[in-house]
Amino acid sequence: MVAYFHNLGMPVPPATMQSLWDSLRGSGTITAGFGNEPGGRGQQVLRRYQAGDTIFAYANGFGVVGYGIAEGPQSYRLVANARRGSNHRHEARVSWQATAGDIHDALPPFAVRQITHHLPRQTSEKVSLRPERLREETERRWPNQPITRAHVLAAFQQVAKEGYRAERRSTRWDVLHPNSGDRYPPKVILSRAAQLAGVRNNRGGGWPTNDVLAALGFMIVPKEGEELEVEQDLAQMDLAGLRDRAEREARQEPPRTSSRGQSIARSPWISAYAKRTANGRCDLCGNDAPFRTAAGPFLECHHILRLADGGPDCIENVVALCPNCHRRMHLAPRKSDISALRQPVTLATNHRFGSKE
Ligand SMILES: [Zn+2]
Repeated sequence: MVAYFHNLGMPVPPATMQSLWDSLRGSGTITAGFGNEPGGRGQQVLRRYQAGDTIFAYANGFGVVGYGIAEGPQSYRLVANARRGSNHRHEARVSWQATAGDIHDALPPFAVRQITHHLPRQTSEKVSLRPERLREETERRWPNQPITRAHVLAAFQQVAKEGYRAERRSTRWDVLHPNSGDRYPPKVILSRAAQLAGVRNNRGGGWPTNDVLAALGFMIVPKEGEELEVEQDLAQMDLAGLRDRAEREARQEPPRTSSRGQSIARSPWISAYAKRTANGRCDLCGNDAPFRTAAGPFLECHHILRLADGGPDCIENVVALCPNCHRRMHLAPRKSDISALRQPVTLATNHRFGSKE
């Protein structure tokens, strides 16, 4: 085992060391700065950590605040925007094992020095003396584990039974229950899971909620509340009628309801049309929808060219995807996927309606 001290760096005001640590700990990452460019020193520092290496998180002025296991150089990425409270754009993944919820519970510098005869000065330094002993000390100090998938599953169960306050619902996102596909508010689920894990719950909203849930393998999807309103009419409509309605919607300027300038409303008719023509299969991978709901096979609508980037809300730009492909298109889109999506959509609509036009 190779063990390192990794210095968290300084928070960028108005963030505090606590909020910076909450964010890293909640998302299972460590970060580095240094130029913030590809190939920069921050990248070298983070790519040096091999899968299985032990990483001791060191907070300047506080001491060791936790330890985790590095996921290896392939988990490194240069992100477009530094996470809140930091100016670091180099990131790598760490699976935290024992961590301080409150940084004031850090293993203080004098205690660290007693064990390792060493305090780090650089961003990253090897712990050459007694790293196992340091690990035992952190485990003894913070026996609570970070939030796991099991905690989130238990949170779903609890929320389903007890409900939640409506005002805590996200306006933009839902998290899906992996078996039923039921939609839940991400913040409510994560804060419940944090309680169950015995992890300090951050009230200031410093947790990147959706990232944490996605990292644990849960599906985050955009809200589609509006579609419920058209459900009744939809059932009676034949395909030609539905297409007609969807095309009329597209001619209008897409309605924009700006919340933080990002959320743009879509026509429920256009999504309904995409789903109807997809006929229960994902437009990208071609697999059957993962499950059925009362409204039919579960697929999600995706704008090939994002509305936020000026893409049109019209039937040619909207496809129906399975949750996996949908998530991938948002997190790791490939050029080939985008062209694959454009192709069948055009062909399919021409083919199905060619005789009418
Ligand atoms: Zn798919």
